[in-house]
Amino acid sequence: MTYIIGKSCVDIMDGSCVDVCPVDCIYSKPGDNQLFISPDECIDCAACEPVCPENAIFPEDQVPDDQKDFIKLNYDYDYDDSEPGKNT
Ligand code: SF4
Ligand code: SF4
Repeated sequence: MTYIIGKSCVDIMDGSCVDVCPVDCIYSKPGDNQLFISPDECIDCAACEPVCPENAIFPEDQVPDDQKDFIKLNYDYDYDDSEPGKNT
């Protein structure tokens, strides 16, 4: 499984989740309007979920129905062309 960043991160991107992720698997690049979690690197530790001030982070199997599109966005994001952290 992985954790997924949903719609409430859009245009917020404060980076609180980045500070607590033990494996640096939360990515972004200049121009992005949200951050993304690499499904291949996330270890499902759940550290990011409670620190998000927007409650934007969910376990993949608990993403609300109206935010299911964000599962694909997180999977399809080009992690090779971005860097861990808040780089927006
Ligand atoms: S803590 Fe939440 S709002 Fe802030 S960057 Fe992470 S997912 Fe986005
Ligand atoms: S669940 Fe853990 S490993 Fe996955 S993104 Fe959040 S802090 Fe990082």
